[in-house]
Amino acid sequence: VSLPPGFAERCAAVVGPDHVLGARAELEPYATDFWRHTRGEAALVLRPRDTAEVAAVVALAAGHRVPLVPQAGNTGLVGGGVPDASGGQVVLSLARLDRVRAVDPAGDALVAEAGCTLASVQAAAEAADRLFPLSLGSEGTCRIGGNLAANAGGINVIRYGMARDLCLGLEVVLADGRVWNGLRTLRKDNTGYDLKQLFLGSEGTLGVVTAASLRLFPRPRERATLFLGVDSPATAVELLGRARGRFGELVSAFELIVATCVEAAVEHVPGVRFPLAEKAPWYVLAEVAWSLPEGLEAAADAWLEAALEDGLILDATRAQSEAQRAMLWRMREGISEAATRLGAIARHDVAVPVARIPELVERGAAVLREVAPDAYLIPFGHVGDGNLHFNVVLPRDTADLPAVRQRLQTAVFDLVGGLGGSISAEHGIGRAKRAELHARKPALDLELMGRLKAALDPEGILNPGVIV
Ligand SMILES: Cc1cc2nc3c(=O)[nH]c(=O)nc-3n(C[C@H](O)[C@H](O)[C@H](O)COP(=O)(O)OP(=O)(O)OC[C@H]3O[C@@H](n4cnc5c(N)ncnc54)[C@H](O)[C@@H]3O)c2cc1C
Repeated sequence: VSLPPGFAERCAAVVGPDHVLGARAELEPYATDFWRHTRGEAALVLRPRDTAEVAAVVALAAGHRVPLVPQAGNTGLVGGGVPDASGGQVVLSLARLDRVRAVDPAGDALVAEAGCTLASVQAAAEAADRLFPLSLGSEGTCRIGGNLAANAGGINVIRYGMARDLCLGLEVVLADGRVWNGLRTLRKDNTGYDLKQLFLGSEGTLGVVTAASLRLFPRPRERATLFLGVDSPATAVELLGRARGRFGELVSAFELIVATCVEAAVEHVPGVRFPLAEKAPWYVLAEVAWSLPEGLEAAADAWLEAALEDGLILDATRAQSEAQRAMLWRMREGISEAATRLGAIARHDVAVPVARIPELVERGAAVLREVAPDAYLIPFGHVGDGNLHFNVVLPRDTADLPAVRQRLQTAVFDLVGGLGGSISAEHGIGRAKRAELHARKPALDLELMGRLKAALDPEGILNPGVIV
């Protein structure tokens, strides 16, 4: 596939020749996803530096009918930020739009451009004595435009919500190159449809996010970070109820991890050591936090003691220093990478009602025995949100791995559907889950999505092949 004559040169006149990449080696990293599962072919990569340049190249693409793939940090896990294999799609990288435009502590808001890394947004909030609570294992690399386009979740959703809930306004370049300025920081604005919601979670299919106003929160001054060994997911769900009963809205994270994943992190993540005296089949990593300077740690210790006495916890520790806390979270965040050492991974980011998590794990194990008897389950994730990364380790030499992955995915999604759950909790649809979405969503949902796409991107130039 070749681009229309003169397209690359016109783009170079907008962004500068150094920011139009065309050589094979330069294109490769933009066309391959984080885990190297999806490899596409990019026709070009464009790297504009501000909203006006983005608008100009989108207008050029619209004029020439060139399909664009918006890309931020390229850590997405469903292949939505990399081009397809046709060789005709152009990657629009937002990485150079990386300024924090304003911080407003009085209004608890911050305005950041789409290419700011999530870690840099967190740091800008902290410098103003505020918290931006979105937190993911990929936070040093993913970028806020990608987080909002993918409606990312992460470890603090239980308290603060998903990326969608943390966004007050957006600036978006539309498919025809016009700029929609919805960058308000108002908490209250009931003037018709909430247009920003259309773009949040739309994975680059309805518009290109160039900047966002974000909600800030009081910064926690005291935290209790607990690591508990438990016998089963059912006990973890019971402890979640007890934690919420005692600490209410202060429960900021509640993660469930199968022992294999903790062992993999201890072995492969530098500086991580096993924090308990006793081993257990499952572990919970939980955090409670508030903005007063003291009192919470003692309350957390009392809660732990009571749960130990009641026989719900096999062993437990509370982080005694910021270094220990950081180590526990490094363990959690290192799991995805460490688990890749165990074999070929089949990933399923699913959600079910919290109370049905134990059933998901039990029935999932039965499904696995049937579909892939050589494989084993390594579930972990955000149990407080009903969201497990229901991952499976397959032997590396599995014959016809893609077909086995596909069969497994279908079986897991059938199970999740039967439990009243979702086939994508926080990672989105991208290209990887598009067929499953179309096979499982009610026809009316798909029709409404298609109508929105047609209204906002009538020529279909924004991320074709993703979601719709
Ligand atoms: C180790 C690891 C841990 C992770 N943990 C979590 C987790 O806990 N929770 C979670 O939700 N996800 C997690 N992820 C997935 C991923 O990090 C998130 O989906 C993240 O939000 C993607 O951001 P990004 O900047 O990398 O976006 P990209 O991968 O670049 O893009 C993601 C999607 O958004 C679109 N897009 C990107 N930028 C724009 C823009 N400016 N305008 C319009 N569309 C755009 C792309 O086309 C693509 O469809 C993890 C990934 C890794 C590798």
